[in-house]
Amino acid sequence: MTDVLQEIPAVVHRLRAAFRSGRTKPVSWRREQLGALRAMLTEQQDAFGAALFADLAKNADEANRTEIHFTVREIDHTLANLDAWLAPEDAELPERLLPGRGTVVREPLGVVLVIGPWNYPLQLVLAPLVGALAAGNAAVIKPSELAPATTAAIARFVPQYLDQEAVAVVEGAIPETTALLEQQFDHIFYTGNGVVGRIVMTAAAKHLTPVALELGGKSPVVVDAEVDPVVTAQRLVETKFLNAGQTCVAPDYVLAIGAGAKLEAALADAVQAKFGDDPAQSPVYGRIVNHRHFDRLSNLLASGRVVVGGQTDREHKYIAPTVLADVDPASPVMGEEIFGPILPIISVPSLDAAIEFITSRDKPLALYAFTDSESTKERILAETSSGAVGFGLPVMHLGVPSLPFGGVGESGMGRYHGKYSIDTFSHLKAVLDKPLS
Ligand code: NAD
Repeated sequence: MTDVLQEIPAVVHRLRAAFRSGRTKPVSWRREQLGALRAMLTEQQDAFGAALFADLAKNADEANRTEIHFTVREIDHTLANLDAWLAPEDAELPERLLPGRGTVVREPLGVVLVIGPWNYPLQLVLAPLVGALAAGNAAVIKPSELAPATTAAIARFVPQYLDQEAVAVVEGAIPETTALLEQQFDHIFYTGNGVVGRIVMTAAAKHLTPVALELGGKSPVVVDAEVDPVVTAQRLVETKFLNAGQTCVAPDYVLAIGAGAKLEAALADAVQAKFGDDPAQSPVYGRIVNHRHFDRLSNLLASGRVVVGGQTDREHKYIAPTVLADVDPASPVMGEEIFGPILPIISVPSLDAAIEFITSRDKPLALYAFTDSESTKERILAETSSGAVGFGLPVMHLGVPSLPFGGVGESGMGRYHGKYSIDTFSHLKAVLDKPLS
């Protein structure tokens, strides 16, 4: 047994003792911890940036936008609104109980476990942690072993900045996560794939522990025939090839209604404009996390006609930003979440066909549409189900802290960010107060 495995029960015990002591409950403690987390991110920005570059070749601007400043914004939004979110909410009482008072009080759950993935290895453990601490919980965070540099930086800095009695980082892979899951927690917040999501939920069931599962899936993009292909292509390229396509809400595939030739040409131009003639030389283009994913993705490149891209370099885990056309819905690229820089285009004859295509598959984490038609938007909203919908702009809903973020069906359960995190990490206690006289 490794040292980490042996220490896990004691770590959870220490956090539980801290929670029972009441240390995490005062709003002053919560604010202090959020302030310390903010200081960690700003003071150690370079160290985190270097770690993200080492793990994923994430450039500094992208690391700041999507991980470091992203989490700072989440902290600022939470600090600005915390008092209002924590205030007891009045509830209307029925006539027969008057005089009296009904309130909803948010109380912390206890000790929570946050398990994160490798693709946004900082943000996806720290943004949930913001909510867990703001709601007054103690927390164990388990970052992904597949982003080892970022995980090491988190394990180094979190204990330096945060209250070690109430916040712990456990490093490790499957054995350590399995050992953690044997412990009793009051909430488990998991981000990653659905196979492990099921393992987490099964382990949680044993202790009747509530879970949030932030999973993935294939997020479709419907593109109307009439829409401006240049703007559409620019926005698709900006969001699809972020982090070399390794984003849970990345556009997975395009359903082009009617002729797709103009869109194909515009996508090729947009890739060239963003990443240059040879994206391998681009300072803003990332790399695939490991060789297993590189090999998996390389095998998907044969699923269609290459419009742009298609080049690979195994040694450097490089796959060019690639657009595939004439893709058969039964081909391998459509059989799994792509989670890499390959964008297949499937032609469909009508909006009806696009909706049928989407609703006959798993409910996606996000659904996007480029259309100028309000009735098309209304139909998509009314006739499909997904974690979120983005009209005219993929991915960016994720960065709006006042919108809930989470999936539905196969793309997950539970939601967070901003106030939604407070509700996820709190128990909403009903209080009825009837005067005695
Ligand atoms: P991963 O392999 O890093 O796994 C995630 C976590 O699960 C890690 O901490 C890992 O240690 C742990 N884990 C792995 N196997 C385990 C096991 N057998 N038992 C217990 N714990 C285990 O990341 P991943 O799952 O490859 O992440 C990619 C997936 O996550 C994609 O499907 C993506 O769409 C999804 N994702 C979702 C979101 C979201 O917010 N909804 C965000 C990012 C990624």
